[in-house]
Amino acid sequence: MPGGVSSPVRAFRAVGGTPLVMQRGAGAEIEDVDGRWYTDFVGSWGPLILGHAHPEVVRAIADAASRGTTFGAPGEKEIELAERIVSSYPGLDQVRFVSSGTEATMSAIRLARGATGRDQIVKFAGCYHGHADHLLVAAGSGLVTFGQPSSAGVPEAFARETIVLPLDDEARLTELLRREGDRIAAVIIEPIPANNGLLIQRPEFLATLRRETERVGTVLIFDEVISGFRVARGGAAELFGITPDLVTFGKIVGGGLPVGAFGGRRDLMRHLAPDGPVYQAGTLSGNAVAMAAGLATLTVLERDHAWQRLEAIGHSLATLIAPVLDTAPFPATLVRLGSLFWLALQAGPPPRSAAAIDPEAAARYRPIFHALLDHGVALAPSAYEVGFLSLAHQPVHLARLRDALAAALHPAVVRA
Ligand SMILES: *Cc1c(COP(=O)(O)O)cnc(C)c1O
Repeated sequence: MPGGVSSPVRAFRAVGGTPLVMQRGAGAEIEDVDGRWYTDFVGSWGPLILGHAHPEVVRAIADAASRGTTFGAPGEKEIELAERIVSSYPGLDQVRFVSSGTEATMSAIRLARGATGRDQIVKFAGCYHGHADHLLVAAGSGLVTFGQPSSAGVPEAFARETIVLPLDDEARLTELLRREGDRIAAVIIEPIPANNGLLIQRPEFLATLRRETERVGTVLIFDEVISGFRVARGGAAELFGITPDLVTFGKIVGGGLPVGAFGGRRDLMRHLAPDGPVYQAGTLSGNAVAMAAGLATLTVLERDHAWQRLEAIGHSLATLIAPVLDTAPFPATLVRLGSLFWLALQAGPPPRSAAAIDPEAAARYRPIFHALLDHGVALAPSAYEVGFLSLAHQPVHLARLRDALAAALHPAVVRA
């Protein structure tokens, strides 16, 4: 496997060293192949909001598997999960299941283009939307508004259809949409950007985005692959009281199996095949096992008052580690929204755009990451990835992070 991994960020390139090979997870803990246990704050990068191997999810998967994994026809659990998602999210009439977040955003963009008859799209620097060609695009230099490929293999002609704007900047956004809005099919955003630090946006910025896209008939896509069912039942849309035209889900809705979904109002979704001309399909889309895992996860979240509890767990973590961060030889604060958290290793208020992130943070994070691992605590192997809390995180797990962090921030480990 190139880099020894199936997805690049797992390879420890940002922190140095060799990735651990895992063999088991239980609740908030994971075990590597050498039998060492770690308290896990990675949560498989977002899906495991109930922790590893939650008994009800395991049972749902086993039951479904024993009755046939996939039928190539609509299934009962698929319909139930679709109904659950549609009734949970503001303004949602229909959903289509896919097998990853990448497929969800890729398909939502095709749908927006097909429905509007426009080609250009807008994304924001610092937001990640999976690895479809049109989304692997970075801001052009200087006054160039067209994007540049951020990966080899993405044709420049594709990247030119994507405009990259800074987050947190109403003026740039409004100016672009008023000048060129009638050529822009969609604006896609993580309403809670959580793939490049945790860049919590001002509600006014999102409100402006909603108002200006509506004015020019541009489809607003909320990429809630991380935030969906994590920050609230109705995701960031519920939290901010802002309804997008299309939304994408992934991670949590698959309960730890490969699932994505996208959806929106009926007048947009009716453009999708077989009702309309926008093609989209998948052999294993909506398969019984993944649907059962997603449904079991959403059922437990609902029943166990998850969003209140996750906020309480997040609050406890913040309270516990704030005094430890104060002892760091450089500025360090915890940025948090519910069960999402990020160590901002920089001075000043929490950054709200990619440009506001201190590039020194990566070097500061490296020794901290390894010291935490030595103390049995697994955080993501990159300074720019967020931490994930789950319902399985008990006070003892939070205390382990506090103690490990206190050791990691000792002057003998990190230097200012
Ligand atoms: C993880 C993620 C994706 C991509 O999902 P995959 O299942 O990894 O393809 C898209 N958007 C956001 C916001 C994500 O966090």
